[in-house]
Amino acid sequence: MPASRLPRLPLRRGFLVAALAALCGSAVSAQQSVVETRSPTQTQDEDFAKSVAEWTTRPEFISPLVDHLPKVEGVPSPKDVLGYHAGAPKKLTYYADILRYYRALAAASPRVKVITTGTTDEGRETVVVFVGSEESIANLEKYREDLAKLADPRGLTEEEAREVIADAKPLYHVMGGLHSGETGPPEMEMELAYRLAVEDSPLIRTIRDNMIVSITPVAEPDGRDRYVDWYYRYLVDIDNEDERIGGPPYWGKYVLHDNNRDINYSQVTMRTLLDWYLDWHPPIMHELHESIPFMYDYSGQAPQNPDFDPILFGELPWYANWEMGQMIKYGMPGVWTHGFMDAWSPGYLGAMSYNHNGMMRMYEIFGNGGATTMMRDLSDGGDRGATKRDWFRPLPAYDSVVWSMRNNTNYSETGVLLGMQLTSQFPKVVLENFYKKSLHSIQDGENETPHGWVLPAGQRDMTRVATLVNLLRLQGIEVGQATKKVEVGDSTYPAGSYVIKRNQPYGRLAKILLERQDNYPDPSLMTYDDSGWTMGLMLQTEVVPADDRAILDVPTSPVDEAVLSGTVTGERSPAVYAVAHYGSTNMIALRYRLRDLGVKAAEASFQAGGVDMPAGSFIVPATGAADRIQAAVKELGLTAVGVKGEPDVPMHDLDIPRIAMYSTWGSTQDVGWVRYAFDRFGIPYDLIYKERVRQGNLRADYDVIVMPSQGRDGKSFVVGLEPRDEPLAYTKTDRFQNLGMYGSSEDITGGMGLEGVLELQRFLDGGGVMMTLGNATTLPPEFGLVRDINASRTSGNFYAPRPIVEAKILRSESPIFYGYTNETVPIKYTNGPMLQVPEEDRDDEVLMKFVGGDDAVLSGLMRGASQIKDRPAIVDVPVGKGRLLLYSTNPVYRWQNHGEFNMLFNALMNYDDLQVPTKEDKTVTDGSGGTALR
Ligand SMILES: [Zn+2]
Repeated sequence: MPASRLPRLPLRRGFLVAALAALCGSAVSAQQSVVETRSPTQTQDEDFAKSVAEWTTRPEFISPLVDHLPKVEGVPSPKDVLGYHAGAPKKLTYYADILRYYRALAAASPRVKVITTGTTDEGRETVVVFVGSEESIANLEKYREDLAKLADPRGLTEEEAREVIADAKPLYHVMGGLHSGETGPPEMEMELAYRLAVEDSPLIRTIRDNMIVSITPVAEPDGRDRYVDWYYRYLVDIDNEDERIGGPPYWGKYVLHDNNRDINYSQVTMRTLLDWYLDWHPPIMHELHESIPFMYDYSGQAPQNPDFDPILFGELPWYANWEMGQMIKYGMPGVWTHGFMDAWSPGYLGAMSYNHNGMMRMYEIFGNGGATTMMRDLSDGGDRGATKRDWFRPLPAYDSVVWSMRNNTNYSETGVLLGMQLTSQFPKVVLENFYKKSLHSIQDGENETPHGWVLPAGQRDMTRVATLVNLLRLQGIEVGQATKKVEVGDSTYPAGSYVIKRNQPYGRLAKILLERQDNYPDPSLMTYDDSGWTMGLMLQTEVVPADDRAILDVPTSPVDEAVLSGTVTGERSPAVYAVAHYGSTNMIALRYRLRDLGVKAAEASFQAGGVDMPAGSFIVPATGAADRIQAAVKELGLTAVGVKGEPDVPMHDLDIPRIAMYSTWGSTQDVGWVRYAFDRFGIPYDLIYKERVRQGNLRADYDVIVMPSQGRDGKSFVVGLEPRDEPLAYTKTDRFQNLGMYGSSEDITGGMGLEGVLELQRFLDGGGVMMTLGNATTLPPEFGLVRDINASRTSGNFYAPRPIVEAKILRSESPIFYGYTNETVPIKYTNGPMLQVPEEDRDDEVLMKFVGGDDAVLSGLMRGASQIKDRPAIVDVPVGKGRLLLYSTNPVYRWQNHGEFNMLFNALMNYDDLQVPTKEDKTVTDGSGGTALR
């Protein structure tokens, strides 16, 4: 397709400048800035223009915004520091070099400032780079304060708000590199910063004067360095699309793509950005991803979360259509909106912006997974029909294309500059929208139900209540603690209850997080990620919505962080402490803090010093350890009573298991979430891979093997990554320091093989306990580790984007359910296998089942809910001398379903006492040490 650029129009400058300057408060007119993309007086970098023209694979893949770069004495361009221009073939920049560039730029230009915001999970420094006029950068703090006033307009009159807006500037935040395989935007952003700092075209000057740009150079720096290592080790010379290989086994410390699904900001890097956000309040956050051809511009399509301000759904297509229209005008094909990403889940990283009354923007730009130019075949229509014309894609992508990193740079930089141009033309509109959205959030809490929520004090386990409060606080939601009895509607709650009033700037987000997602607009619509996330259900704590306006007037003291001190009562010099198991996830943390002590679990409830001790409560010998026990109990928010002797109930030892966690090389992410949870609660484990399993003799080293959800099916464990002609090593070398972390292998291809399955069988036969979660639960049935149980999949019209559903506990006497009091519990439905257990075994082996049916869907969307009716959710099967625990659920799903964590943690703590009394004794083995016969 030929380029079809508009010729430059002559301007009647005097008239327009005078007229429009008055309107937009800038020395540069709107019209002028649209077409004047260069400064006639600036020297341009000829080497840049020549290189970029060469690297751009077709003339239409570039715009007049980025086909040139001014050369300014004393201010370094990326090439001056790095040795190459952004988008150069076969060049990816390490994070330290990226920071080096920004710091060189900031040192040379008063229009650029770099601030340190914290660290990543692996300890790299995180920064935000500000670019604006000299005046803006000199007065950053003032502009930060302006935005803070608009973000929390309580106490501002309309008149005062107008004054703030008149004086304020929008902050437009750009971030790339969240997904480490999406390598282009971090390169582009350096050029963008330079261009914004030095170019004197009317377009750029208007941006620089009327707004402030902030940049996250790389949103996941740890993964960036790992991926760049991998690129130079394996990918750089692969220029044939069919020979491409995947990325490294890890990006960040724990997760890959899910750094964009971390709804509770567990990962340090993500939390650091959130903290920065809550300090600076950029009304726009623009996230740059890579996937579909040639550039998808997010417009917030259905299903839309109706709790977001309706203004947002005007803003998103406003920007997206402007950019698409302009890029088409420049002749750039394949730019489209709509038809891909919806606006339902609040769990994406950039959603921190619209969750907090700003605007999340997002691109997907076509990329090659690196900087190597290659022919890309899109004759199948391209992902999401990108090569097909549609009403939202008037100029589609091509059926085949030679694509380069510079094309990627051209598209993303042009798009982002256009978004900034629009902002710079309407800065006051953007600010007023931001103010109004913040104001509406407060007003909605005044005028609409629920007006707030109560987290009653006196819940049996307050540790999960405190966790919930702190997750809300992390996101800036105000929480108070009632200073006296709370009376709302017909209900009364004790003093000390936590109260969330909705008439606050982030009342909107509180509603989104706390309500049931029973407002999904149309069950025929697909959604990109989770459909349900209701926090009270996920933490299995009581959260009561209050429709009574009186909640707004309940006297409270503000909670910065919910700190729960545990209680220790009873005997002063006890022989033992009884520690109540009320369902706190901190019980396992306590067990490991006291790992050297011979702790027991009570198998039945009892009373100690007037305190209820349910089954599962710990009996801890106090001699010589009283101080330590008391300190741990208090710190972990638990309840202990000192008693003279052990209670008269059946008990078993809580032996400390030697735990292995199994990971395939091809699917480490869901394993990563379980690793994260284990690390947070202080549970030691060895992370093992196919190499260790094949080595055999697993029983010598381990008592428990945990197989987190991973892969598609059992076969993916056995065959693993597709072998190549040569081994694919994931090892640390002098040159590649970021590889070989979290495990290493001389060849990550291939799986555990059938010999690996055999080793697992030996492990079980030898008395080992294996726990399979989610998709990993397909392995034992498919490969004969268990004789009578089968796994299948839901079919037909079934669609369950991870809603929350009811499950029923059938064997409440199993140690797995210590601390659980209700027969039915809310469970995150994660599309694990459908298990079939022979009818005669069900009573004994099925510990929990899904209730099924539409009425059992508590939050989010499940189509075809009758298919899971009465299906086993957790199955416990003796195998040989060992035991298999098959979870069709995922008890550690991201950092979200805390209420389910104990279904795994309890199993670990009681791993050699999981046997529950059966109705008839059925422990008949086949005499060969193999699978138990039924
Ligand atoms: Zn991405």
